[in-house]
Amino acid sequence: MATEPHEYEFFKVIQGYLEAAARAVDLPEHVANILSQPKNEIIVNFPVRMDDGSTRVFKGYRIQHNNLLGPYKGGLRYHEKVSLDDLKALAAMMTWKCALMGIPFGGAKGGVKMNPRELSVDELRRVTRRFTHALGNNIGPDYDIPAPDVGTNARTMVWLMDTYMNTVGHAYKNAQIRVVTGKTLASGGSLGREKATAQGVVHCIVEWAKEKGLALEGRTCTVQGFGNVGSNAALLLNKLGVSTIAVGDHTGYLYNPEGFNPHKLADYVRHNGSIAGYGTGHEVSREEFFSLQTDIFIPAAIENQVGAQEATALRARLIAEGANGPVNPEGEAILAERGIEVIPDVLANSGGVTVSYFEWIQNKRSETWDLEEVDAKLERRMVRTYHRVMGLAREKNLSPRIAAYALALEALKTAYDERGIFP
Ligand code: NAD
Repeated sequence: MATEPHEYEFFKVIQGYLEAAARAVDLPEHVANILSQPKNEIIVNFPVRMDDGSTRVFKGYRIQHNNLLGPYKGGLRYHEKVSLDDLKALAAMMTWKCALMGIPFGGAKGGVKMNPRELSVDELRRVTRRFTHALGNNIGPDYDIPAPDVGTNARTMVWLMDTYMNTVGHAYKNAQIRVVTGKTLASGGSLGREKATAQGVVHCIVEWAKEKGLALEGRTCTVQGFGNVGSNAALLLNKLGVSTIAVGDHTGYLYNPEGFNPHKLADYVRHNGSIAGYGTGHEVSREEFFSLQTDIFIPAAIENQVGAQEATALRARLIAEGANGPVNPEGEAILAERGIEVIPDVLANSGGVTVSYFEWIQNKRSETWDLEEVDAKLERRMVRTYHRVMGLAREKNLSPRIAAYALALEALKTAYDERGIFP
């Protein structure tokens, strides 16, 4: 298990979930067919001047899965493993998340194939600006609205917004602020957006614990990925008395039975780019990390991390999927046999797009909501949706994942029924 599970066709896996959920809600065949493929697949190759004077051509993508319920919406990923198929899967998941949460957006995902850690800040800015320019009118505040994902952050979104603003006439410039969400506060972002995805994960964990009659205080968690989602999840769980005893990222894994101080660790990662070299805890292998005794495991890195071997090794009661697609179907089958519960990604990490929606509304109305308001609105939606998903799962004897998909499909099905197919 030293290496990650292999042979993962992410898009096929998502299509499999769609088929299972379609059966559960008797989705008409034509609607299932429409939803089985993205509407648009945009690929751009664009040149960027590098710091050493050379020119490098980058490949960028924007996959627009569906916009029946509203503008396309979804993150931009900067990662060396970005591929068309993975983005198709991730774009489809955005459609399900928005439909499930009752957010008037569709689904999209995009990215640039590269390792952002190898580029300087200036190079990253030029890549973002040139990528935005290459996408042109394929994005827009009422058409397709990107947000941060792996390898991108609030700063990336501000560069994108600024570039896009400068491609329209002066008179329309400020109306473009909604072209991205997940911006910095100074440039039109929302309070509570940065922690929103993790906050949503934690709301689900709290509801799960209530259902089980478990007190969270004194419990432990392990977190894979210590970027936006992983670090904020550790911070928020810490406030509830849950200690993070092991963490991992692209550089390796650390274990500290006493529990890490998530503030210090997050601060360290902000300054050093990874957990490597952090003074507390001791290094463990990936294999050891996955076999640690813990109450909650939060995957918050990338897809396909829990396969058969990891699922067999895991000694947790609950997996709350901060990442998209971290558990593969083989892993999921073993977890189900072993009674390890999974709060699925399309539910667990939908807090991010929910607060992105709040940011978009605030921008549209030229308002700034205080943190209490954002947090309260997010909590209400997360708690309500958690119970809808788990209720349907129990009622129809479905896994929570298929139940979440089923609820999303119900919303899309009703809209397709009412609107029909053009012309
Ligand atoms: P990030 O770039 O801030 O952090 C990613 C983390 O994953 C880093 O710590 C990185 O070192 C680690 N990582 C990358 N490859 C790894 C590997 N092979 N093994 C172990 N660790 C690895 O990204 P993020 O925004 O926190 O996103 C993490 C996950 O959450 C992704 O699956 C993303 O799609 C999902 N997600 C993010 C948001 C959001 O609002 N940012 C919303 C919904 C879902």
